[in-house]
Amino acid sequence: MQFENQTPPAAESHGSRAPVRLKFWGVRGSIPTPGAGTVKFGGNTTCIELRADGEHVVLDAGSGARELGLSLAREFRDKPIALTMLLTHTHWDHIQGFPFFVPVYQPKNHVRILGYEGAHHRLHETLEGQMESPYFSVALKELPGAIHIEELKGFTFKIGTLNVRSTVTKHPGHTVAYRVETSAGSICFVPDHETSPGEKHQGVFDLIRGADVLIMDSQYTPEEYVQKVGWGHGCYEEVVRLACEAGVKRLYLFHHDPMHDDAFIENMVARAREIAHPHDIEVDAAREGEQVVLVAK
Ligand SMILES: [Zn+2]
Ligand SMILES: [Zn+2]
Repeated sequence: MQFENQTPPAAESHGSRAPVRLKFWGVRGSIPTPGAGTVKFGGNTTCIELRADGEHVVLDAGSGARELGLSLAREFRDKPIALTMLLTHTHWDHIQGFPFFVPVYQPKNHVRILGYEGAHHRLHETLEGQMESPYFSVALKELPGAIHIEELKGFTFKIGTLNVRSTVTKHPGHTVAYRVETSAGSICFVPDHETSPGEKHQGVFDLIRGADVLIMDSQYTPEEYVQKVGWGHGCYEEVVRLACEAGVKRLYLFHHDPMHDDAFIENMVARAREIAHPHDIEVDAAREGEQVVLVAK
């Protein structure tokens, strides 16, 4: 498998023979963080688009889903959009973009939402709740698009031809991580998970083992982490060590802290690469707008 950071021709955007494409639409954790200091890596919260083997998948629906929806509307025009939205959990930074995802406002489109029941609420209730008055003006049931919400029960399932595995992460509430197997390699999405020094979470380790691409919660520095033990987010230096041990081929630091500006994240990447240097792994920070193309060898 090879990685290419490039834009493929538009004609290759769809269909089973198109290359596998990942695009980062939101990479920030906790709350959108626009401003001059976050222009490079971006201020929108979690949202990633995956087009693989004929399937169109959206990983979480943070505020980045707004721009994604607008882009899809421009691309598809009158043609129907059919996609699967795969949610890791329902913390606000992972669902707040959904009410602004324009494809759900058009009857021609079909959005299938997959996720797990929360600690205290059903998935449907939580998604409905954030759109109720007084929080929002359009109720979920009033959306014209065909929306199907399905609660996942097991930890292995399929999205079309894609095999998906999940595992519960260390994060408040009921939160999972996903591993998607594509024809061009495996992609692991671990946006909210507390990777801590001296403690290996076996479920997450098994999930990410040998992954071609790992997108993982790297929110805190070691100094910040000791102040925030139990908050459910990872210490990035430990994430790098874990990814090296797991034989991951490419790691994206993800769920950037709202307090970290571009220069701060660049320093984190430099340190991460020092740690990763002896290993055969590429390390970078996820950047809003970046597209990753995976090519099967
Ligand atoms: Zn989050
Ligand atoms: Zn969370």
